[in-house]
Amino acid sequence: MTGKLGPKALLEYHARPYLRLPAVTPLRFRQPMLRTSRRGFLRQAGAAAMLLPIGAVWARSSERRSLSLVHTHTGERLSTVYFEGNQYLASELTRINWLLRDFRTGDVHPIDPAVLDILADLRTLADRDGAYEVISGYRSPKTNAELHRRSSGVAEHSLHLEGRAIDVRLPGFPTERLHEFALGMRRGGVGFYPSSDFVHLDNGRIRHW
Ligand SMILES: [Zn+2]
Repeated sequence: MTGKLGPKALLEYHARPYLRLPAVTPLRFRQPMLRTSRRGFLRQAGAAAMLLPIGAVWARSSERRSLSLVHTHTGERLSTVYFEGNQYLASELTRINWLLRDFRTGDVHPIDPAVLDILADLRTLADRDGAYEVISGYRSPKTNAELHRRSSGVAEHSLHLEGRAIDVRLPGFPTERLHEFALGMRRGGVGFYPSSDFVHLDNGRIRHW
């Protein structure tokens, strides 16, 4: 099996609940539906774990996670396999951290790999393998304070300050659909900025705006 897992394979290996949920509008995508399906999901996940064939165990241990990024402000591009076998690749994370630095101040900060995994899985769900356009990755306290002063859309204690958030769009894929998929993943905060055409993704508390 190649390293790129399709949505079906991801479902089998991770049995993540969001993959079972239909793509619906955010308004209809509310807690009650998730709560009622939770028990069923856990039952299915348990059954799936018992039925995993030997081949699946091998496939999981050889998992590769890849990303392509282009930063809209610096024009820098990166295509990387940042996770292989059973580990994150430090040298690739370093390259990613550099691309996602605060381009205004030059400050580099580690980006939480969980955010990268959200991006990788979201791209798989969208069935795209092109590069994300990055609007904002890490933000230094100085930059965030300046942006917060200028725009009510920038939170004072943004997770961008911790390297746990990213603002992206996926060229060729409607950003509102990307937003719906991200909501369905339930892996953290999701914000939609239609006028600027991007989604904010973070691995903090599950919430949306
Ligand atoms: Zn953001």
